Amino acid sequence: MTSKLFTTAIAGSLPKPAWLSETNKLWPQWKAEGAELQQAKADATLLWIKAQEDAGLDVIGDGEQSRQHFVHGFLEQVEGIDFDHKVKMGIRNNRYDAMVPQVVSTLTLKGRVHAAEAQLLRAHTAKKIKFTLPGPMTIVDTVSDQFYGDKIKMAMAFAELLNQEALALQADGVDIIQFDEPAFNVYMTEAADWGVKALEVAARGLTCTTAVHICYGYGIKANNDWKKTLGDQWRQYEEVLPALAKSSIQQVSLECYHSYVPPHLMALLEGKDVMVGVIDVASDEIETPEQIADTIGKALEYVPKARLIPCTNCGLAPMSRDIAIKKLHALGLGAALARQRYA
Ligand code: ZN
Repeated sequence: MTSKLFTTAIAGSLPKPAWLSETNKLWPQWKAEGAELQQAKADATLLWIKAQEDAGLDVIGDGEQSRQHFVHGFLEQVEGIDFDHKVKMGIRNNRYDAMVPQVVSTLTLKGRVHAAEAQLLRAHTAKKIKFTLPGPMTIVDTVSDQFYGDKIKMAMAFAELLNQEALALQADGVDIIQFDEPAFNVYMTEAADWGVKALEVAARGLTCTTAVHICYGYGIKANNDWKKTLGDQWRQYEEVLPALAKSSIQQVSLECYHSYVPPHLMALLEGKDVMVGVIDVASDEIETPEQIADTIGKALEYVPKARLIPCTNCGLAPMSRDIAIKKLHALGLGAALARQRYA
């Protein structure tokens, strides 16, 4: 914790520029290859570092500019995965279909996964940096298993690989390592039962700050349609937050603004830093500083001031670049207003 109140961060992903890949897509095709693609990814990362700093954000990320998708970016460096023969699979409990790679043998890392991005980020900002990795349970839900035959066993195998990369990211100078676990809001009993344990394996031995992001997904149609079926009280967090409160993970990122999550559920995270979602990623409407400060005010009924980190509800990857930049600025301005109001 720092002495500055309401330090701001983003959940993780940001839109890719149109010269890097297709836009407004969750699995966009790259527009270059080889060395040219590597350079384009680095250039895009630099521009988003600058955009986050210009918006006055306190924790800076790489915007996930170097990975096609938040899960598959990691899997591309894993031996034992067949990327050449993807299969169609219903993911997030069949909420939508995705083309996923197959697990075909024992899993090992081919080498470093995100060294280039983390080192680039560290070299180009003096602020705290956060790096995101997919969580073990969400990975298991985004690949087709032809080898392990057991979800938990496969999740633990992925957790070991994540741990290996997380320790290396820490050595690169990363301040916060965040695991993304949208699957926790889909398989709540399993999440509390073994998902959190797998997460702790992934975070084992880390001395930097550890975090988990749990959301209701990107602002894509399948997710927006799903949310309409959840009623007027979204209580998914209720099952997993008590397990997380007991875990070693230090920060938890939650969806809040424009959601039907009862705010009092945040009280279940006593002792944790809470990244409160104050920016809606399913709407192009730009939040006003007043709206953001109001959301922070509501969360303050359940989260101590010093533990509240205003954040986006989820990643901004499928949005337009222009909207995303405006939302980053809104986040900075909203947190500044909250500092005046609630200091
Ligand atoms: Zn998310």
